[in-house]
Amino acid sequence: MHFCIRDDDTSFFTSPDDLEHAYGEVSQWGPVSLAIIPFCRAGLSKGVPEKFRGRWSIHPLHENQPLVEYLRARISEGCFEVMLHGYYHDEPHGRAEFAGGVDLDRRVADGRRYLEELLGTTIRVFVPPHNTIGWQGLRAITLAGLHLGGTAGVRAGWPLWSKATWKTWLRLRHWHKKGHVGIPWVLDLGDHREMAGNAVTPLSTLQHNEACFESALRVGGVFCAATHYWELVAPSVHTGDPTVGEHLRRLIARAVSNPHVVWRSVGEILSDSTLLSHVRGIPS
Ligand SMILES: [Zn+2]
Repeated sequence: MHFCIRDDDTSFFTSPDDLEHAYGEVSQWGPVSLAIIPFCRAGLSKGVPEKFRGRWSIHPLHENQPLVEYLRARISEGCFEVMLHGYYHDEPHGRAEFAGGVDLDRRVADGRRYLEELLGTTIRVFVPPHNTIGWQGLRAITLAGLHLGGTAGVRAGWPLWSKATWKTWLRLRHWHKKGHVGIPWVLDLGDHREMAGNAVTPLSTLQHNEACFESALRVGGVFCAATHYWELVAPSVHTGDPTVGEHLRRLIARAVSNPHVVWRSVGEILSDSTLLSHVRGIPS
């Protein structure tokens, strides 16, 4: 089985200390894939510091030079992978940035080039802000040759005329009907691939994520822990459950103590054709 960590919302507002505190030690075990916002708009997202929230001003990543230098160094050491997390992330009209609209092809192409040049890296994965995408957003990332961190589904853009769409849809329906949890393999939609994130947030339960982890282990699939560095100190809303950070640490402990688990970046896993379920004969 493959294991990866996806962390969303690194932006102009992130400090090197934030990331070092969250992942300095963790990244000695394996890479952490950061979904980075190139031109963060100070909207209502919790990743934006309170004093900037709701100002709607735009903050390019390069204006935070200490962060850029820190990221470049850690990327070259193989500790971080960069993924594209929208362009502005928040929109004043309140709709998710990649749920629809006309400018998305350009935003994906420009945002990607900007981050690649600024951070000296290659981007393979797009993570939609607010985990929401529509067909225009999906078309934009497919045009750019990127994969999706997260899953779109039929209602959010999988093309209705595509054989891969219905093959994947049936497979997932079968899997969940049999009482299984999570989506423990890379989805192959033909023109791009998708990987579900298992949310590690105050709302998620450790028990559910451990069940998803075990089902991924059983089929030799993938488990992606999806979290936010700015939320690791937050307590769970569920009585008796650990903080978000402790929740993540328990999943990591599970991964590193099991010799059948390989820890890689999100992009490496999504780019590896030998991991596709139909190639490996993963049962549904
Ligand atoms: Zn986000």
